Amino acid sequence: MNMEQTPLIRVENMKKYYPIKGGIITHTTGHVKAVDGVSFSIIEGETLGLVGESGCGKSTIGRQLVGLEQPTEGTIYYKGKALSDINKDEMGKIRTRLQMIFQDPYSSLNPRKHIYEILAQPMLYHHISSRDTVEKDIRKLLDMVGLSPNILGRYPHEFSGGQRQRIGIAKALSLNPEFIVCDEPVSALDVSIQAQILNLLKSLQKELHLTLLFVGHGLGAVNYVSDRIAVMYCGKIVEIGEAKEIFKNPVHPYTQALINAVPVPDPEESDKKQQLLQGEIGSSVAVPQGCRFHTRCPYAVQDCSREEPVMQKVRERKGGGHYAACSISREPIYE
Ligand code: SF4
Repeated sequence: MNMEQTPLIRVENMKKYYPIKGGIITHTTGHVKAVDGVSFSIIEGETLGLVGESGCGKSTIGRQLVGLEQPTEGTIYYKGKALSDINKDEMGKIRTRLQMIFQDPYSSLNPRKHIYEILAQPMLYHHISSRDTVEKDIRKLLDMVGLSPNILGRYPHEFSGGQRQRIGIAKALSLNPEFIVCDEPVSALDVSIQAQILNLLKSLQKELHLTLLFVGHGLGAVNYVSDRIAVMYCGKIVEIGEAKEIFKNPVHPYTQALINAVPVPDPEESDKKQQLLQGEIGSSVAVPQGCRFHTRCPYAVQDCSREEPVMQKVRERKGGGHYAACSISREPIYE
């Protein structure tokens, strides 16, 4: 991976605030700060994992990247061009290149349509296939995601969760995307099926040279598929770096707690683990002052509740630096 090349996706200071309405004459009484100033980039062919607890804003970022929502502030660049500067016609074409795989594929598949219609309609509409070739193209797609072509006349409710997720993946691939947001694609599946879907995503990413943002709440699955990992807490990225590096040398106490929460097969080893993460995630409405993690951090000192820590480089690596936002981070290590 060459971190010098122009990123496929670059996000600069993205914010997404949702107004809270209240009062007799409805007016805005506050904001949910779902994403509160996030910057990162994703290189072509790379998988960036985005991990954090439910409600930290990670899925919200995914929805902005594929155009399902617009950021309140900040800029999203696609191949170096700001999406906000692109005209409507060009935007229509770009949107097909940015796709999403949802946590619950059932909600993204129209229950009244059979699989052929679900896949054929967008392919025909966007001129990916012609009437003559569409069935052949769909059969090829189904084969790629490990499904039989005999399912074309069946409806979404006739499939298991794992099969529906494969159909969701086929739907995302049907428009020849370059970039896919995988929004917790295995969280709703049985553990036995999760590994199959993760392996499928890994092999498709390699085969089709896709660029992925893999959103998850557990570091185990995210680490398995990602080249780099960004850890999010309460609307902010608190640590980012190569996956191996983050796992081996986590700097931020929140990352350390997430790694500690990754299940291990040996019960004795599991019993030895300290429970580092306690209490509820900080509120996105009344955001904690200073470091957002200070209300749960076992290493917090007085200053932590006063000043918000800034991202600092803690290690230099060929595949991109390792950064963390914690004021007790060590001096940078250059290797
Ligand atoms: Fe913990 Fe303080 Fe670091 Fe925040 S800045 S993670 S509260 S030690």
